[in-house]
Amino acid sequence: MYPELNIGIVGHVDHGKTTLVEGLTGKWVDTFSEEKKRGITIRLGYADFSIYRCKKCGKLGVNKKCIFCFSDCKLERTFSLIDAPGHESLIPIVLTGASLFNAAILVIAANEKCPQPQTKEHLRALEIGKIKNIIIVQNKIDLVSREEAERNYNEIKEFVKGTIAENAPIIPISAQQRVGIEFLLEELLLIKKPDYQEGDFLFLIARSFDVNKPGITPKEMVGGVIGGSVIRGKLKKGEEVIIKPVKIEDKYVEIKTKINKIKRGELEVEEATCGGLVALETSLDPSLAKSDRLVGCIAGTKNLPDTIYKLESTYILFNDYKLKNGDTLLITCRNSRSIGKIVFMNENNLKVELKNPICVDKGNVVSYSKLIEGRWRLIGFGKVI
Ligand code: GDP
Ligand code: ZN
Repeated sequence: MYPELNIGIVGHVDHGKTTLVEGLTGKWVDTFSEEKKRGITIRLGYADFSIYRCKKCGKLGVNKKCIFCFSDCKLERTFSLIDAPGHESLIPIVLTGASLFNAAILVIAANEKCPQPQTKEHLRALEIGKIKNIIIVQNKIDLVSREEAERNYNEIKEFVKGTIAENAPIIPISAQQRVGIEFLLEELLLIKKPDYQEGDFLFLIARSFDVNKPGITPKEMVGGVIGGSVIRGKLKKGEEVIIKPVKIEDKYVEIKTKINKIKRGELEVEEATCGGLVALETSLDPSLAKSDRLVGCIAGTKNLPDTIYKLESTYILFNDYKLKNGDTLLITCRNSRSIGKIVFMNENNLKVELKNPICVDKGNVVSYSKLIEGRWRLIGFGKVI
């Protein structure tokens, strides 16, 4: 069974994301480990995990053996987990991640007042990404009394009122003590598979690798691998795609390449469709894909959007954030990001000159982040016009 959904995990720093991810995947990997980058499976910031149901007691778990009664379990469903690091400076990464999420887990610690700054910011990122499937995890319940847990629950309820997470289930757990995880798994099983999106194949590249081990012969060498998610259409093994905007020397170009292999999780498949992470082995010179060089690019069969150097968009700002001509912004749109300078603005629209070009369609959602006291802050969003 291959992963059929991308689950994002977000929340304030120290609220327990890493602990929960470890509990679900059992093998969270060092994000920057060189070793893990080789291997067609994408593990950089991602991990696949499966939910199993015990054949005897019916309880859910993430292992093939039941942790309650040690009986054998049946595989129920496989997911790709995308970790959006919670460090305060990384909201742009959360925003990029959100373009790939089909659903999200928002982790909120029960022993702190809700909302903490990043809890708020990450929920906004989910709203901008229109992530409707949200599960709130009220973590660290082992540290609070029943009354405190209830008070915190009410704070969460109040916080999500009127937002996209208004009706999200709130599951009390202790990620560290592994308490309540089966209820979270129950909710994850209920999430509907994303609908197939008609249209020309379009793939957002979130990772790219050279998977060749040192010392292999030229005959054994395989092309660069791109990892990401299909957002539209489908692609068969052997078909060609265009990748853009690829930086070669100082120019941004588009390149055409044949897809030789398609992998979903550990499985090799004939076709790439939406849902979960997909790895495409191209015919490209692997050095072109090495060390995430193609991240932020798109791959598609035809009618790809133009490469834009100047972005025109609408804007709505949060709180009392202000913008003026000449300000530097970080633009996040789908899987691409760029620093840019505002060269024109009026009441409704912005024109931003980008440091590096991006490929986006009219109508795509753009997020604006600004460096405030050394941290990128999500200050607003808009639409490409
Ligand atoms: P992250 O920054 O959101 O990834 O948070 P971590 O997973 O690194 O957790 C931060 C700290 O909280 C670590 O010391 C964890 O061991 C601890 N922690 C995480 N979950 C729980 C929990 O359920 N109960 C308790 N008591 N501690 C927890
Ligand atoms: Zn059991």
